Amino acid sequence: MGSWNYSVFWDEAMKLAKAELGEHEFAMWFNIEYVSSTESSILVRVPSSFYRDQLLRQYQKYLETKLYELTGKPLSLEFVVVKPAPTDSLSTERSVDNPDGPASPAMTKAKPSKEEPPREHMRHPQLRRDYTFENFIIGDNNGFAANAALAISKNPGTSYNPFLIYGGVGLGKTHLMQSIGNRVWTENARAKVICITAEEFTNEFIQSIHDKTTQNFKNKYRYVDVLLIDDIHFLQNKLGSQEELFHTFNALYDANKQMVFTCDRPVSELKNLSDRLRSRFERGLNVDLQPPNFETRCAILKKKIEASTVQVPDEVIEIIAKNISTNVRDLEAALTKLVAYSELVHKNITLEIAQNQLKDVFSQSKHGNVTIDNILRVVADHYKLSYSDLKGKKRTKNIAFPRQIAMFIAREITEYSTTELGFEFGGRDHTTVMHACQKIEERLKLDPNLESSIQLLVRTIKEYSAKI
Ligand code: ADP
Ligand code: MG
Repeated sequence: MGSWNYSVFWDEAMKLAKAELGEHEFAMWFNIEYVSSTESSILVRVPSSFYRDQLLRQYQKYLETKLYELTGKPLSLEFVVVKPAPTDSLSTERSVDNPDGPASPAMTKAKPSKEEPPREHMRHPQLRRDYTFENFIIGDNNGFAANAALAISKNPGTSYNPFLIYGGVGLGKTHLMQSIGNRVWTENARAKVICITAEEFTNEFIQSIHDKTTQNFKNKYRYVDVLLIDDIHFLQNKLGSQEELFHTFNALYDANKQMVFTCDRPVSELKNLSDRLRSRFERGLNVDLQPPNFETRCAILKKKIEASTVQVPDEVIEIIAKNISTNVRDLEAALTKLVAYSELVHKNITLEIAQNQLKDVFSQSKHGNVTIDNILRVVADHYKLSYSDLKGKKRTKNIAFPRQIAMFIAREITEYSTTELGFEFGGRDHTTVMHACQKIEERLKLDPNLESSIQLLVRTIKEYSAKI
């Protein structure tokens, strides 16, 4: 097995970047030096975390694309921060250039650190640094999932495989999944961890067909130690990608490599998913995340505050936690808004400021759990139809019109895409949803009463959703 050395390609990529971006921009940001490579990644060093963060944000994709064009291989960039000091501890090569070949073969524990510097100070290109177990508050709502995740990161690939976390938006699925990745990656210097969304997996797969590089694609995903795939509900209807993931799954499963997936609903409720892939997803451990209770919400807010320099009184934490109950992401957003305000106007946060600043956020969040189901129920009730008729396939006029109204409202007041709405409305195509919205918009122009009926329905739906 040969060692991997992409330094020539790296130099070439730098030359191209300089030519394309111009001397000035290049000199400003490209304070980078090649360190070493593996079969699928290049490690470079930068002088500070500031440079690393800027490069990650602005140039990572750019550079990875360049490298792909030059080498024909999907290489990922990894950064290590080495402060320019008199003696440079990192000039020894990382494991990856040693003749043992690609990083993957088994996750043997790191040998003493000369060959394999600890990864604490490095950043995995696909994992968020703050999505760690240390930053994850465990409560009643997520205790089972969190403890399973901890167990898995101690012994990946052995006990719960695959591990699948499901639940509504903003409840911590991605955070928990990436915590596993971060833990395994920092503690095992050789572990190859890949973390992507199902959408990226799909796009990359399609691109590889187009570029005739499917073999590279297969190799990339079938030789990892831990594969994390976020939001697998995206695979509904994507039969080609499902097929590919099925084979990847089998290869990794047989090799005892850990897989973790997240999904916005139980696997049994996914539509247009091949039976064999469904049964693979259900094979290991499937655990759901629930919305956190009041105490857990307070604890999450407190944890967030620890990381900032601002003082937030307990009574403020409590009103935020009381008013925002269904989604941790919204909870954090409210706090961020408040902290930003207090920093901008140089005022301490008080209960009064919080109430004022967060008025809109609080009233919106009361309507936060509008679901398609709620819309269907309220609209069916309004038009004296049954829920199943409205959702079903019948196309008689007295059903078709209310159904279009329901689709129109769903499009207006939820974040669902037309494709997702199509699914929710009895497995229809997204064009049906678009057509329905157009029809209603046309009628709105002609029928002055329709607008107020729709407004009334929207109000009723929001009230209904706030109650349950
Ligand atoms: P999902 O993937 O389920 O939509 P995320 O993992 O993106 O949700 O979580 C949304 C936000 O809430 C993130 O910023 C995450 O860090 C935070 N969060 C969720 N659950 C917790 C928790 N138990 N402790 C701390 N932060 C949490
Ligand atoms: Mg997520």
